[in-house]
Amino acid sequence: MRTTTVTPNLLQLNRFRFVNAYLVREDDGFTLVDTTTGGAADGLIAAARAAGGQIRRVALTHGHGDHVGSLDQLRERLGSGVEVLMPELDARIHAGERVVQGKLPGSWPKITTVPDVRLQAGDRVGNLEVVASPGHSPGHVSFLDTRDRALIAGDAFTTAGGMAVPSHFYARFPFAAMATWDKPKAVQSARSLRALDLSMLVAGHGPAVSDPAPAMDEAIARASR
Ligand SMILES: [Zn+2]
Repeated sequence: MRTTTVTPNLLQLNRFRFVNAYLVREDDGFTLVDTTTGGAADGLIAAARAAGGQIRRVALTHGHGDHVGSLDQLRERLGSGVEVLMPELDARIHAGERVVQGKLPGSWPKITTVPDVRLQAGDRVGNLEVVASPGHSPGHVSFLDTRDRALIAGDAFTTAGGMAVPSHFYARFPFAAMATWDKPKAVQSARSLRALDLSMLVAGHGPAVSDPAPAMDEAIARASR
């Protein structure tokens, strides 16, 4: 697990140069956003400890395997005192409900952890505000840090090989595009995230991008063509 300080409140944890999780500093410790793939719990806990705190809650951007992969292991290690928060629709998919018509792309591994909270747009998780960004998955949410307007975009954008909306197969990082459920919705969500006046954007895949508006505009234009 490689730790990079993005802002004083935000640390990026990168695994296998492929996927990111984030530690968000709060008064009581850290909110962990996403968990990467399976087998990462010890590394995530150690990264939080090295950064001077404990993981108090685990908030997920969406239900795909490379984001919830270590959730069960974290719950096992950290116990039920650590709150788990998952977007409403993705939590219902994991609970076995059929919430959309047709096929659901991406990996939806079996997890046994039942989220304590099903997130809705507008909810607060510490200093983070939950922003709806469906498309990549039905329930996908992003998290806006209200202190400095840094956005944790999950897979609503990817920044590996340049900023992209995971809406078409020609992205330089094609994995997220292949896993995307509803491409027009993904583009719509990208537009609403662009309207947030962000200082920083971080994503599930790729490096942090500061002053992201121009790159977001280009990515949206490319995806809308
Ligand atoms: Zn995904």
